[in-house]
Amino acid sequence: MKTQDLISLYPVVVLGAGPVGLAAAAQLAQRGLSFLVLEAADQVAANIRHWGHVKMFSPWRFNLDPVSKAFLSQQGWAMPNEEQFPLGAELVQNYLEPLAALPQIAPYLRLSHKVMSISRSDTDLLKNRHRAEQPFVVVVQTPCGVQELMASAVIDCTGTYQSPNPAGSHGLAAMGELEHQAQISYGIVNQQKDQARYANQRVLVLGAGHSAFNSLQELVALKRQYPDTQIHWAIRGANPDKILGGGANDQLKERGALGLLVGQWLQQGLISLHSEFRLRRIADSAEGLLLSSAQQTLPAIDQLVVNTGFRPDLSILSELRLALDPATQSPVALAPMIDPNEHSCGTVRPHGYLELSHPETNFYSAGIKSYGRAPTFLLLTGYEQVRSIVAALAGDMEAAQRVELKLPETGVCSTGFVVPAVASSCCATTAETAPATCADSSCGTKPKVKAACCG
Ligand SMILES: Cc1cc2nc3c(=O)[nH]c(=O)nc-3n(C[C@H](O)[C@H](O)[C@H](O)COP(=O)(O)OP(=O)(O)OC[C@H]3O[C@@H](n4cnc5c(N)ncnc54)[C@H](O)[C@@H]3O)c2cc1C
Repeated sequence: MKTQDLISLYPVVVLGAGPVGLAAAAQLAQRGLSFLVLEAADQVAANIRHWGHVKMFSPWRFNLDPVSKAFLSQQGWAMPNEEQFPLGAELVQNYLEPLAALPQIAPYLRLSHKVMSISRSDTDLLKNRHRAEQPFVVVVQTPCGVQELMASAVIDCTGTYQSPNPAGSHGLAAMGELEHQAQISYGIVNQQKDQARYANQRVLVLGAGHSAFNSLQELVALKRQYPDTQIHWAIRGANPDKILGGGANDQLKERGALGLLVGQWLQQGLISLHSEFRLRRIADSAEGLLLSSAQQTLPAIDQLVVNTGFRPDLSILSELRLALDPATQSPVALAPMIDPNEHSCGTVRPHGYLELSHPETNFYSAGIKSYGRAPTFLLLTGYEQVRSIVAALAGDMEAAQRVELKLPETGVCSTGFVVPAVASSCCATTAETAPATCADSSCGTKPKVKAACCG
């Protein structure tokens, strides 16, 4: 069966209802392709909700998918002030929730649907014969039990937030890390929610990226209320100035401003810096937790905050033929464009279905998961990815190969944001109304697309 035949029989299944999964849904709706979005959590944008208190480093105008924005505008949605920097929670409340509620998307969104694994119907990893002609089988944990859904194509937008890197400098859990989980956390500190955990405690933040800056900011705010809070910051590099970024010269204003603030707090002695620290071991002592590298042991602490980045969870994809770069764990063609070893301050070119393709025909990862371990992802790039992927699935190869986004240099080291070319949108609204979720009560409902949660 050809792609178009499969697409006429089975929906395109999008995994994850984060910003990129929802943008994929909007693109699919715009092209009139049958689709389903499967979201593990009971709300959309579950990962962003974890960092809802964090201010984004890109302003509103860089956080919206053009087709989604056009759909929303048709419903009378008011665009937030485009120069403002939303909190993660504001992105969810003012953009992603209204987007998910649109009649073009809501009927095809299944919440509390956690994807467990994916394969090809009657075709295991080893089998070549008619492989690309078989629909995908998506195994999903639903409120109605485990279900198998058939899909013509799969777009995996499940993100990386739920698989943070461990604390060890070798990329593995440090010795003692698993045993001391009660005193270790992996997200960005929230001074309000986490007050009981960190107030007047000795806290060490490990990591040198935007998440670590945010944790330090939250802890400094907490220290102003609870002056006995001690803040330590450990980085692998020797020079914090490099990490603190371009400061006032950073074109990503918010990120630069935060870097400057962290620099000031270091100078004011609010934060104790431990540079060239490569964690190997975490151990208990009478004084508290002791963190050691090969050369040194840091002062005892009560709590460790690990902000060392994320990696993709590839376990659900183990029965698919993927071609992943061995270092970044992104698709091979994408890797040289995003590799942080080469591109710490370079340009990530906009890219689409070609760079994201795997040997497994019609399977794509998109969004931050497609970057594997590379920390250079921007929402705008993700929106362009799914625009191109959906065009390819629709057989519109001219649009799939066209680049509609002029991307600035990487989100980490931008030297100039350029407004994306907005795709024209015909915005047909053909969706029927149907239950938006697969709540138990809707289990008897016959789905309006070929395969659905309770079919
Ligand atoms: C603190 C922080 C600040 C950031 N700020 C910016 C910024 O200012 N600008 C910018 O461009 N980018 C920013 N990013 C980077 C990036 O844009 C975000 O991480 C964004 O959320 C990525 O979107 P996504 O749709 O790819 O994945 P996610 O938002 O992570 O969404 C993935 C979705 O998939 C669901 N899911 C996971 N596993 C399964 C499964 N097995 N089955 C079904 N569903 C599943 C999750 O519940 C989630 O809803 C930031 C990232 C962080 C962490």
